[in-house]
Amino acid sequence: MNALSGPVLNGLSVDVEDWFQVGAFETVIDRKDWDGLDCRVERNCAEILALFGAANVKGTFFTLGWVAQRYPAMMRQIADAGHEIASHGWDHARVFTLGRDAFAADIERARKVLEDTTGQRVTGYRAPSFSIDSRTPWAHEVLAEQGYAYSSSVAPIVHDHYGWREAPRFAFRPVEGSDFIEIPVTTAEVAGRRMAAGGGGFFRLLPYSVSRWAIRQVNLRDQRPAVFYFHPWEIDPDQPRPASAPLKSRLRHYTNLDVMAAKLSRLVHEFRWGRMDEVAAIEAARTPARLAA
Ligand SMILES: [Zn+2]
Repeated sequence: MNALSGPVLNGLSVDVEDWFQVGAFETVIDRKDWDGLDCRVERNCAEILALFGAANVKGTFFTLGWVAQRYPAMMRQIADAGHEIASHGWDHARVFTLGRDAFAADIERARKVLEDTTGQRVTGYRAPSFSIDSRTPWAHEVLAEQGYAYSSSVAPIVHDHYGWREAPRFAFRPVEGSDFIEIPVTTAEVAGRRMAAGGGGFFRLLPYSVSRWAIRQVNLRDQRPAVFYFHPWEIDPDQPRPASAPLKSRLRHYTNLDVMAAKLSRLVHEFRWGRMDEVAAIEAARTPARLAA
């Protein structure tokens, strides 16, 4: 602990998918070609495990069923190191592109593989590209029906790819009569505008001090946990680079990959971090129950 560490336990999370599974490349890389591409997720996760281990922190790995099926040994390694295994859906289909039934089938299929490969019970879920929003009023209900304890799938902002502007900034109970809890990704208010400040491009593209400021604001002013996320491909400057991707996607995807590991190392040492299921339990205890109408 140092001067920056408050008493608040923040949620550390990794969205485990490979470089070709990100939304930014869906128009240039065909889903049916995934099997033939150079998979980098295993080596990148090994590096993340080393980085977390050096700081003695535990986190949550929201993993695609598609990835877990191909890398069961990697999944066991993550679980054996004391991290939480949680679900990121089967193959990164965004929730608002699926109907209620297809979503239910997607998360059921992913969970089975995640649980079978690790022996850990999966109780947490993160939607691909934070795709639970006002278009998917059924999504939290389905998660609660399937016995999930929490989700961290909402970005309470406006963004060009995602966001649910009206959602609360901190934990809420989206389903009547259920203990199920949603813990949105961390946001910061900058010049009157709310922006996602819990990782992704915000962390990688802007100076480290901006993220440090945002997390301190949440911990000290709001007295709440920050929810931080990143992806294995973000620490991998040597990943393949499809030339046909749109310029904006390429700029966003490839900038600062070479400095990411050092930034992450600083981050995990400077704040107090834990698994999302731990943070969910703390947040659930302070969030009023929502009785059935
Ligand atoms: Zn993802």
